Amino acid sequence: MIKSIELVAPLRDLLAQALENQLAAQPDLTEEIRALAQQARAVGDHGQGARLAKQLRQFWIKLALRDEDKAKVQEGVVRLLRLLVENIGELAAEDKWLHGQILTLKGIIAQPLDKRTIADAERSLRNAIIEQGFLKESLSDAKTSLKNLMATFIDSLGGLTESTGAYHTRIFEYSQRIKGADNLAALSQILDEVMHDTRGIQDSAQRSHQELLVTRKQAQQAEERVRQLEQELEQTSELVHADQLTGALNRRGLDETLEREIKRADRQQTPVCLAMLDIDNFKQINDTMGHQTGDRALVHLAKVIKETLRPTDAVARYGGEEFLIVLPDTGLAEAVETITRLQRELTKKFFLHENDRLLITFSAGVAERTASEVAEDAIGRADRAMYQAKKSGKNRVLPAE
Ligand code: GH3
Ligand code: MG
Ligand code: MG
Repeated sequence: MIKSIELVAPLRDLLAQALENQLAAQPDLTEEIRALAQQARAVGDHGQGARLAKQLRQFWIKLALRDEDKAKVQEGVVRLLRLLVENIGELAAEDKWLHGQILTLKGIIAQPLDKRTIADAERSLRNAIIEQGFLKESLSDAKTSLKNLMATFIDSLGGLTESTGAYHTRIFEYSQRIKGADNLAALSQILDEVMHDTRGIQDSAQRSHQELLVTRKQAQQAEERVRQLEQELEQTSELVHADQLTGALNRRGLDETLEREIKRADRQQTPVCLAMLDIDNFKQINDTMGHQTGDRALVHLAKVIKETLRPTDAVARYGGEEFLIVLPDTGLAEAVETITRLQRELTKKFFLHENDRLLITFSAGVAERTASEVAEDAIGRADRAMYQAKKSGKNRVLPAE
C-alpha cells in the first residue's frame, strides 16, 4: 500500500509537468491546462483518477483537432497567397482590382484564421479572377478587331481616291497611328478624324464604315462590363459573407454566390444544382442536450459539409438548422450522389457530446436549375423535395421534380 503511494506521487507530478509543457504552445488554453495540472497533482482516490482520465482524453482530442486545423489553415494561406501573386501581373494595370483583393486578404488576416474563412476567400478570389480574365479577353478581342477593321478601311480609302500628295500622306499617317494605338479612346479619336476627313467619299465606303461603328460599340460595351465587374469585385471584397455561428455563407453571401454561379452556368452552358438540407429531429437534440449542444451540432455539420464537398461548392446557412448547398458544374444525378456521400460521411465523422457519439442525420432535396429558371424557384423545388424526404421517413436524399 505504502509502496503504491510512493510510486503514484512522482507520476502525478510528471503528468502535471507534461501538461504544463503545453502552455507555451497553447497560450489560449492556459486556464484549462493549469486546472488539469492542478487536478493531476491532487488526485487522491480512484474516482478522481477516473474523472481526470476522462477529461484528459477529451483534452488530447481537442489538441489533435487543433493541430490538424492549423496545418490546413497554413496550407490555405499559402494557396491564397500564390493565387494573389500569380494574378498581380494581370492586376497591376487595374489599381482598383488590386486594392479589392488586398482588402480581402487584410480582412482575413485581421480575424482569427480558420480554414473555412480561408476557403471562402480563396473561392471568391478565384471566381473573380476567372470572370475578370474572361472579360478582359473579350475586350482585347474587340479592340483588336476594331484595329484590323480600321486598318482595312484606311487601306481601301487609299485605293479609292485618285488624289495624290497631301491626302496620301494623311492616309499614311492614319495607318501609322492605328498601328501604334493601344487603347479604345485613342482608336475612337482616330476613327472620328478619319470620318471627318473622308466625308466626301463615304458612300463608296459605306459598308466598312457601318462595320466600324458596330465594332466600336462592341468594344465600348465590353469596356463598360469590365468597369461594372470592377465595382462588383470591390463590393464583394469588402462585405462580410459568413454566418457567425457556423462560418457557412449567410443569406447575403448566398445571394451573391447564386447570382455569380447562375451567370457562369448560363455563360459556360454548364449545369448547377441546389441542395436543401434540414437536420432530422433537431428539436430533440436541443430539448435533451441543451441549446448549446444544438449549436455545436450545427457547427459540426457545417464543418463536415465543407470537408466533404469540392472547394468550388458553396454552403450557406439558409435557416436555423437548414443549409443550402450550391454545386456548380454538377448534374442532378451527380449532385444526389454527392449529398448521399455527405450522409455517409456524417456517420463516420460523428458528433461528440460528453464523449458519446451522437449520430446526426438530415433529409435533403436536390434540384438542378433548369434553363432560365430563377434561383428562388429552384430553391423552392429543392425545398419541396426535402419535405418529401421528411414525409417518407427522413434521413434520405430525394431529387426534385
Ligand atoms: P424534422 O426532422 O421534421 O426537421 O424535425 P426538427 O425537430 O428538426 O424540426 P423543427 O422545425 O420542429 O425544429 C427545428 C428546431 O431547430 C427548432 C429550433 O429550436 C431549432 N433551432 C433553430 N435554429 C437553431 C440554432 O441556431 N441553434 C439551436 N441550438 N437550435 C436551433
Ligand atoms: Mg427546419
Ligand atoms: Mg429539422
